[in-house]
Amino acid sequence: MPLRAKVASSVSRTAAALSRAAGRGDGSVIGGWIGLKIDPELLAHLASGREIALVSGTNGKTTTTRLTTAALGVLGTVATNSFGANMPTGHTSALAKAGATRYAVLEVDEHYLGQVMAATAPRVVALLNLSRDQLDRAKEVAMMAQLWREALRAAPDAHVVANADDPMVVWAATQARAGVTWFSAGQRWRDDSWVCPECGAHIARIGDDWWCTRCALRRPEPQWRVDRGAVVDPSGERHEVKLALPGTVNVGNAATALAVAARFGVRPQDAAPHLAEVTSVAGRYAQVERDGRLIRLLLAKNPASWLEAFDMAEQAPTLLSINARDPDGLDTSWLFDVDFAPLRGRPVLITGDRAFDLAVRLEVNEVPFRHVSTFAEAVRTVSKGRLEVIANYTAFQDIRAELDRVL
Ligand SMILES: [Zn+2]
Repeated sequence: MPLRAKVASSVSRTAAALSRAAGRGDGSVIGGWIGLKIDPELLAHLASGREIALVSGTNGKTTTTRLTTAALGVLGTVATNSFGANMPTGHTSALAKAGATRYAVLEVDEHYLGQVMAATAPRVVALLNLSRDQLDRAKEVAMMAQLWREALRAAPDAHVVANADDPMVVWAATQARAGVTWFSAGQRWRDDSWVCPECGAHIARIGDDWWCTRCALRRPEPQWRVDRGAVVDPSGERHEVKLALPGTVNVGNAATALAVAARFGVRPQDAAPHLAEVTSVAGRYAQVERDGRLIRLLLAKNPASWLEAFDMAEQAPTLLSINARDPDGLDTSWLFDVDFAPLRGRPVLITGDRAFDLAVRLEVNEVPFRHVSTFAEAVRTVSKGRLEVIANYTAFQDIRAELDRVL
């Protein structure tokens, strides 16, 4: 590395360490920020000579990054931004402290994909899905897909591993110049992809299959897919994956991780056993026992991830908690985009700053519920056994903090 990059990298590590010592989180954002101030090319210098996979999409990218890191671990140590710092400052920090590690798997915020691809020249880019966040609408989703297309056109050497079930992802991935591996991980949330991004016509669907009713855009045949808890590879061989993470959604994430690892020469039968090493991801899926209740925390940050959380939650008493502070978005009208009917038939408790909005939504959806004023009250209210907790961002943080205090 050039001298300036060496200095920037060293200062970046020191700043991150100081920030950690001061109790201000893991320091990766401030460390990366200072490093990039000293040398704006620092990320490119740190990436040079490494074999890198990037993982992007609206949902599942933190989990898929962790699973892919575990799968690539077959080859040796793998650098990663495991704290979810998924912008260039976080990537810079992750690689600055990684030393001479040959491999890296980086989670990338979908808005930054082009910039990070240009800086890191990745060998593989995994594209998971595109859907609205709380305040976006389908128009923004199509704009994001357009940005991805431009990013892929500018990267002649990046092989793309992409979700065949999401029309927006397929439309973007067709611009890949070094080939595409398609996987099928399912798409529960379809409300952002009824209109063809290429020509504006209606997208027709039967089961998992979909096609544009006017132009040539249609679902590609996936090489990797999920079948009853197993991942099926391109040769048709089944790989049972014993995950510590719940839900079919995560088997789809495992399929993506194995497909990415295969591009690095890792056989799925060698990688699959390592996927069970991932137990919780930044507190998500974490299970804690309290007063005989086994409590599991699921984060749901946008309509698509609410549907996924319903898939992950077992048929057990379920606490829903909604806030509408800055990081959550102040508008809760997205609640009406989500079908809560899968919760019928189980005891449902609600809490959080905006529990009243949730109550209205559940009434309309004919899902019986009970309001509790605190998390502790929810725990007291349910009988011994499992309690599933589904919460949006700040509600999730509140409950985590409360559990940490008590335990
Ligand atoms: Zn079309």
